[in-house]
Amino acid sequence: MDRELIDCRRCPRLVAWREKVAVEKRAAFRDQTYWGRPVPGFGPADAALLIVGLAPAAHGGNRTGRMFTGDRSGDVLYAALHAVGLANQPTATHIGDGLTLNGTRVTAPVHCAPPANKPTPLERATCRHWLDSELALLAPTLRAVVVLGGFGWQALLPVLADAGWRVPRPRPKFGHGVHVELPGERNTLHLFGSYHVSQQNTFTGRLTPDMLESVLAEAGRAAGV
Ligand code: SF4
Repeated sequence: MDRELIDCRRCPRLVAWREKVAVEKRAAFRDQTYWGRPVPGFGPADAALLIVGLAPAAHGGNRTGRMFTGDRSGDVLYAALHAVGLANQPTATHIGDGLTLNGTRVTAPVHCAPPANKPTPLERATCRHWLDSELALLAPTLRAVVVLGGFGWQALLPVLADAGWRVPRPRPKFGHGVHVELPGERNTLHLFGSYHVSQQNTFTGRLTPDMLESVLAEAGRAAGV
C-alpha cells in the first residue's frame, strides 16, 4: 500500500503545493533534497496501536518523507512515545536515524502537506481511500487508536465504522483524554482522543508533555504494547 501511496496525485491543489514547497525550500534546509510526495505511515504493518494525526508538515514530513519527522510537532510526539516505552529514541530527524516504534504505527488522514496545514473536506474525502486501506490491513492486530485533534477524529470515525467496529450514535465527541470502546467482530478497539501536538497547542500549554504521555501510556496498555 505504501508503495502505491507515494505515487498518488489525486488532489491537484496538494500535489502542486507539496512540489512547490519541495522546490522553493526553507532557507535552513536549502542544501537538502525534499521528499515532496505523499508521506506513508511509519511503523510496523502489524501494529496494535495506531496514532492518527492530521497531515504532513510542509518542511517536516514533506521534507524528510516520514510522518512527524523533522518538525516541532514530531519532536513533541516522539519524545512522548519514547517516554512511555513506545519508541526506541526520543528524536526523529530523518529516515535512517535509527528510530523504531514498538507495536505502534503513525499515520494521517491526509498524506500530502496542505497549505496552512488545512486540507479541504474534499481532500480529506479523497484521501480516505488510503485510510480505509490502512485500517483494513491493520485490523487483525489493531487494539487501540490515539487520534491527535478533531480533524483526525472526524476523518477516522466513519472509517472505523465501515471497517466493522460499532461506532455509537450519536458519534462520540472529540476531546483530550476521551476514551471510547468500540466492539467489533474480531476485537474491541480502544479509541482515545488527544489534543494535536501542533505548536499552537504545545507552545500555549494547552497540551503538555504529561498530558500527552498519559494518553499514550493508557493507549499502550489497552493495546498490550
Ligand atoms: Fe493522494 Fe492523499 Fe495526497 Fe490526495 S492527499 S494526492 S489522495 S495521497
